[in-house]
Amino acid sequence: MNKTAYKPVIGLEIHTELKTNSKMFCSCLNNPDEKKPNVNICPVCLGHPGTLPVINEEAVRKTIKTGLALNCQIPEHSKFDRKNYFYPDLPKGYQISQYDLPFCKGGFLEIDNKKILIRRIHLEEDTGRLIHSRAEGKDCSLVDFNRAGVPLMELVTEPDIKSAKEAKKFAEELQLILRYLEVSDADMEKGIMRVEVNISLVEKEGELGTKVEIKNLNSFRSVEKGIEYEIKRQEEMLAVGKKIIQETRGWDEAKEATIGQREKEQAHDYRYFPEPDLPPLRHSKEFIEKIKFEIPELPRQRRERFEKEYKLDEKSAEIFVQHKELGEYFEKVSSELRNWMKEMGKKENSEEDVFVNTAKLAANYIITDLQGLLKGESVESGKFLITPENFAELIAIIYKGEISSKIAKMVLEEMFETGADPSHIIKEKGLTQITDESDLEKIIKKVISENQKVVDDFKKGKQAASQFLVGQVMSYTKGKANPQTVNKLLNELLTK
Ligand code: ADP
Ligand code: MG
Ligand code: ZN
Repeated sequence: MNKTAYKPVIGLEIHTELKTNSKMFCSCLNNPDEKKPNVNICPVCLGHPGTLPVINEEAVRKTIKTGLALNCQIPEHSKFDRKNYFYPDLPKGYQISQYDLPFCKGGFLEIDNKKILIRRIHLEEDTGRLIHSRAEGKDCSLVDFNRAGVPLMELVTEPDIKSAKEAKKFAEELQLILRYLEVSDADMEKGIMRVEVNISLVEKEGELGTKVEIKNLNSFRSVEKGIEYEIKRQEEMLAVGKKIIQETRGWDEAKEATIGQREKEQAHDYRYFPEPDLPPLRHSKEFIEKIKFEIPELPRQRRERFEKEYKLDEKSAEIFVQHKELGEYFEKVSSELRNWMKEMGKKENSEEDVFVNTAKLAANYIITDLQGLLKGESVESGKFLITPENFAELIAIIYKGEISSKIAKMVLEEMFETGADPSHIIKEKGLTQITDESDLEKIIKKVISENQKVVDDFKKGKQAASQFLVGQVMSYTKGKANPQTVNKLLNELLTK
């Protein structure tokens, strides 16, 4: 039998709780970390009769800021609409959302040089949280309204994504952008960012099949796994001539499978109409321009700049883009290195070459040794004591060959513990590299005389024996000898 090769078509709907002081339409605290239920509530977010909503301007700004960063148009006119449905965690019996006039339309996000088209970004309010529990021997459901009315931004892509990997990448890059923009912490594990996947299989590019929606994906990994599972499930159905039904399926993390939940409702089921309690909005050009001005350098630009400005390899640059504060620390260290070079007035190499080499050295020490010492702590925490100036000084000392890499690690550890500057530590502990050849020669001669058997082995042609002797010299000098010089001198003395 000839198997039909189906192609997946994927579109994402991503909800993100915005980081604002207060909720979307009332002055209650917006605190996703609140553990005690029903403390951040008021008559407005509980939907009491006679209350009126007031728009949170900060939430509108953050939505538009996201739209601008994702290349969207921001239409001049916009409004909120009522989306009517009943659910116990929705006290008003409707959700204030946006239907036909969202804040942002038609943008894109570029991943791996491919533009994934974004259909719209709108703003709505989050629901409360249901907790299914047991009390007095009976099943019961409890409801916590702390989350009810929290600003929730929804981004909808075009069905433009072609694989599980691509969907995961899109979600990861979006999370990073939201964090750079400081509009949300966008944690998936905490449900602050929630990804829903729409997927259909088609035979020919450009077609659209019957789509299935997957919910409850609360990590990037489950986004990828959920899509892979659903592609397989749909392929198997189609292979035996079964029809795909349009439905919503939930991701079961433990079983790693999607499970049918309900057949999908249509837009008309929600009886959308303009929210009568809120005025329509009109954004002035100045308002939009001001928000545009607040957009910082974004991950994509930072990647390119780090590779160009510091000649970092792709992998190192990516680490600094993913760990933004570490990248910023690296930049401060590099700028100190530039100052240091001016003072040195080094002429034999071009200044730019020295800069690139020392910056690379700094990147390596930050990525491997410093990250190891930090154990996940941020360089922005008050506990971190190494100033960029001191770190740059250490790099300069290493670059000039004044200490070996082994000693450098010890000095860095000491700096990490105490915040002291490296030249002090080196002086105090007498760690300067022994480069004086006559001093080293004395030590090597002593090692040779104490290891006559190894020397004989070497003379019989056993090359590895000289490595042993170098090791002895290094241990004798507590790592302070310059290994290249030791090698050179040892060879001279042994072949004499
Ligand atoms: P609904 O009204 O069911 O929510 P939308 O047209 O609003 O459907 O699309 C919701 C999401 O589903 C969007 O991300 C869109 O790209 C995606 N989508 C729409 N049609 C398909 C399809 N046939 N296959 C895969 N994804 C689709
Ligand atoms: Mg939809
Ligand atoms: Zn409230």
